[in-house]
Order: sequence, then C-alpha cells, then structure tokens
Amino acid sequence: MVIVIDEAYQEFVRAEHAVDGIEMYRKYPNVVVLRTFSKAHGLAGLRVGYSVSNPDLTQHLRVAATPFAVSQIAERAAVTSLRNFSQVVERVQSLVDERDRVTAGLRELGWVVPDAQGNFVWLDLGENSADFAALAGERALSVRAFGNEGVRVSIGEEEANTRFLELCADYTKPPRRS
Ligand SMILES: *Cc1c(COP(=O)(O)O)cnc(C)c1O
Repeated sequence: MVIVIDEAYQEFVRAEHAVDGIEMYRKYPNVVVLRTFSKAHGLAGLRVGYSVSNPDLTQHLRVAATPFAVSQIAERAAVTSLRNFSQVVERVQSLVDERDRVTAGLRELGWVVPDAQGNFVWLDLGENSADFAALAGERALSVRAFGNEGVRVSIGEEEANTRFLELCADYTKPPRRS
C-alpha cells in the first residue's frame, strides 16, 4: 500500500503538531509526499511541483509522470521563486496573518469556524451555502460554495478580507454549534 501525503498547503501550516510529510517519508518506505508551487509560490497554472519518495517507489512514478512533464518556463519560474524564497516566506506570512485576522473576526461575530491551516477559511453553512455565495457575489467577493456542505473563502487582499467580514456581520444565518 502506498500512502500519499498531499502537502499543497504546507507553507501555510502553523499548527504545532501537524504531520510533517518529510519526516513520515524518512520513517516509512511507502510514503509519497507531494508539494506544489501553485499556492505559496503563486505559480498556479504553470503546473509545477515535485514529489518526495524512496527510489523504489519513485521509479514507478517516473513512468507515469512523462505526460505531465514540467515545462521549461514553469521550471524557470520555480527556480526563480526559490532564489527569492525570503519574499515567498514574507508573502505567506502576511497571508497567514490575514487568515488569522479573518478567523478571529468571524469568531468575534459569533460564527463557529474551524481553525484554518491553508490559504482559505471554511464556512460550515450547510443548506445556506448557495444563498451566502450569491450575496458575496453581489458584493464582488468571489467565494466557492460546495453544494449544501459549506463555502470556501480564499484569503485575499486586506481590503477584500475586511469587506468579507462586513458581509458576514450583515448575514443573519451564520454557522452555529449544532
Ligand atoms: C492546489 C492543490 C494541489 C496542487 O495543484 P497543482 O496546481 O496541480 O500543483 C494539490 N492538492 C490540493 C488539495 C490543492 O489545493
């Protein structure tokens, strides 16, 4: 059995006891860790990332990976981003700060929201998801509703996050503890 640990949001994680994929890979021969440049490095669309696994496993991945080869431009963008890693770290930290401000703001409003470890917050809006997403759209805020499950809100610029909190303050059917 192969265990795949998708660490797309690894750079945004601040939870103290979060699983460390690389540590797991060192410990277990059947672990594959996936990393992407799409989120923290902001290179979504260029389709560049990497996996970390033992050579025994990696040789099989190589066979399947050929059609998904990284383009030259994507590779150069990734290398340039790594050369400017301190800027990446800075950008990720401002996003984390904003994420935590939004989470705290929601809780101040009495909303029940889970701790966020990625670049978005999750609103457990259930059957009100589409309704909430439509209201957000009216205020030029782009959120993503998942059926009757909830709404995922990506953390944006400070100004947009503030307008999002204003929308939530006006909304009358917030997620409550059931
Ligand atoms: C963004 C993302 C990825 C990787 O996306 P690519 O653009 O294909 O590199 C993987 N898993 C999750 C959960 C993601 O959100």
